[in-house]
Order: sequence, then structure tokens, then C-alpha cells
Amino acid sequence: MTDNALPASLASARQRLEHALIDAGRPVNDASLLAVSKTKPASMIRQASALGQREFGENYLQEALDKQAELADLDDLVWHFIGPLQSNKTRAVAENFAWLHTIDRLKIAKRLSEQRPPHLAPLNVCLQVNISREPSKSGVMPEDVEALAQEVAALPGLKLRGLMAIPAPAESLAAQRQPLAEMRKLLSALQKALPDTPLDTLSMGMSDDLEAAVLEGATLVRLGTAIFGARNTT
Ligand SMILES: *Cc1c(COP(=O)(O)O)cnc(C)c1O
Repeated sequence: MTDNALPASLASARQRLEHALIDAGRPVNDASLLAVSKTKPASMIRQASALGQREFGENYLQEALDKQAELADLDDLVWHFIGPLQSNKTRAVAENFAWLHTIDRLKIAKRLSEQRPPHLAPLNVCLQVNISREPSKSGVMPEDVEALAQEVAALPGLKLRGLMAIPAPAESLAAQRQPLAEMRKLLSALQKALPDTPLDTLSMGMSDDLEAAVLEGATLVRLGTAIFGARNTT
């Protein structure tokens, strides 16, 4: 199965990112595109891969593992786990992904570090920040980021790369920028607090707030709907 709309929507997502970078006065290769393929079939990932897309984000573990098995012949894909992770599912992430964006407690980080197979490079991780301070949402509170980062940075099986957020939806560009600007400040404070850890990643910006995120320094934007269309219901 292929999707006739994918070549055009992937091209326009790339163009949108490039325009946002130019508008932000940043080099056009300063942020990369993570294609969020949750609920979409492996065939669409294969098609995107043939169009040059390498990095894919998945939210649901079993669904992701099934697609990885189907796409095992494509050995240059980079898989990111971007969904919430329960501690009984850490092993499969440690064994099958290159990145995890949603660390928000030490217990999960320790398990992943222990379970990362030694023949693989350390798992790249971002701390998820509850930047809009929404009750019952995932993520570490901004004031707790540094303490958690210090501990995660010391774990041998992990490589702390930066921060990730899913801000509460906002209507205007200015309102969208506010929490994203706080993320930028948090990362810069963290870079000073952990001078020996190269922190190069701000994972933020989705289909509705890509431009705001790029203005605030996003380096990895996570686009689902803009590339693959509306989500299939699972
Ligand atoms: C689904 C999802 C996305 C993609 O969202 P779109 O609005 O479809 O671009 C990005 N990040 C996370 C964490 C997601 O769960």
C-alpha cells in the first residue's frame, strides 16, 4: 500500500521547516525533521524512506515493534520512541530504539541504562518537561530538570541529548512561543550546569506550532499530521 499524497506532503513539510528556519535567521540545516508515524502503516514509512526520510517517531510500543519487524530490511532508519513509557516496557525500548524523548523519572532512566545492550551505542535521551505545568500531564517540572539531568547524564547506557516538550495548545504565535521560549532558557541553563555533557537537542514543534518552535530554537521537530495526514483510529 502506498499513499498518493505522501510525496507532496513530505515535500511541503520539508519546505515549511526550511522557511521557518530562514524566517528565524537560522541555517537551513539547523533543525531536523522527525516523521511521527504512529497509527500509520509500515508501507507509508517505507515510502517516506524511499523519499529520503530517515528519522521516525512512534508512540505505541507494540505497534512500533511490529513495524520495525516489517521494515527490518531498511537498516538506515533511526527510530525514536516519543510516547509515555511504563517501567515494565523499558527493555524493548532499550533494545530497539536509537532515541527516547520522554524521560521524566530516574527509575525509568536507570532501567534503560542497565538494559541497553552493550553492542549498541548509548540510547539518546531527552528529558520531557511539563512546561505548561498541566496537572496529570507527563514530564518533569521545570525546577526539577537540572537535578534529574545530573543523574541521567551519569548513566553509562544513556546519552543525554537535551529536552523535549508538548506545550498546551495556544491560539496565537505569540502565545505558542511563550512556553517554547522557556524551554530554550531551560536548555541553555542546563548547558551551563552540565558543561561536560554536549546538550544539542530541543525536541519541540508539532504540526500546529512548528514555526513558533523553530523561532525558539527547536532542533528536532516532530511532525505527524503534516506529513502523513490525519491519524488513523486504532
Ligand atoms: C503525535 C505526536 C506528534 C505529532 O503530532 P502532529 O500534531 O500530528 O504533528 C509529535 N509529538 C508527540 C509526542 C506526539 O505524540
